[in-house]
Amino acid sequence: MEQLLNLRDLLQHEIEDLYSAEEQIIEALPLMIENTTNRELKKALKDHLQVTKEQKRRLDKVKKLMAGGEEISEEKKSFLERLFGEGTKCKGVEGLIKEGQKMMAEDMEPAVMNAAIIGAAQKIEHYEISGYGTARAYARELGLRDVVKLLEATLKEEYQTDKDLTALALKKVNVAAEKGSRNAGVKTGRTNKGSQPAGRKVAPKKGGSAAAKGRGGAAKKAGTRSRSAAKKTASQQRSR
Ligand code: FE
Ligand code: FE
Repeated sequence: MEQLLNLRDLLQHEIEDLYSAEEQIIEALPLMIENTTNRELKKALKDHLQVTKEQKRRLDKVKKLMAGGEEISEEKKSFLERLFGEGTKCKGVEGLIKEGQKMMAEDMEPAVMNAAIIGAAQKIEHYEISGYGTARAYARELGLRDVVKLLEATLKEEYQTDKDLTALALKKVNVAAEKGSRNAGVKTGRTNKGSQPAGRKVAPKKGGSAAAKGRGGAAKKAGTRSRSAAKKTASQQRSR
């Protein structure tokens, strides 16, 4: 009987997963950019959106290189689906993006929101670093040099972004969040009327608003909670 799964199949699955992740990140970043009131963070996220679009194109090249080999059989596909779930949508990044969107729907000081957005962005970067690192290791093992080069180029960019976000968080954004101050130079459009900040954009909801229901209590705790959440981000601890 044919072996159901080999390293090349795993690599192919990983590439599909990363492709879906990049697609979802391209869709999700604009809302994070909009809700950021720190100029440097806004620029860093905007730059990463452009980088991400290029990463998706790089994965197109990887897919073409991989297509030269043996096609993945239906039997293997169903085995991979049992392991990782149906379809090629990356559930890991989908969950991280949803968490970020839920957080952005909460009422909190703009300075605190900036810290929370960095934390959310870095969780996504770490997912990508893990995925690209694994895919590169498989490609190396399989002797697919051109694939290794392409994956490595993206992996370096994800590491750099994570590093830059850490520096920004530790030097500026977390500091501002702790002081509860608003970042200078960017008008937030916030008013004191009602609990929904005027300038805040939220992701469209599918049925009911869980964030709205929990907004009252969450708002009181938001400062403390998101500050500690950002500080506990592994990458931010690592570079201390
Ligand atoms: Fe990426
Ligand atoms: Fe990224």
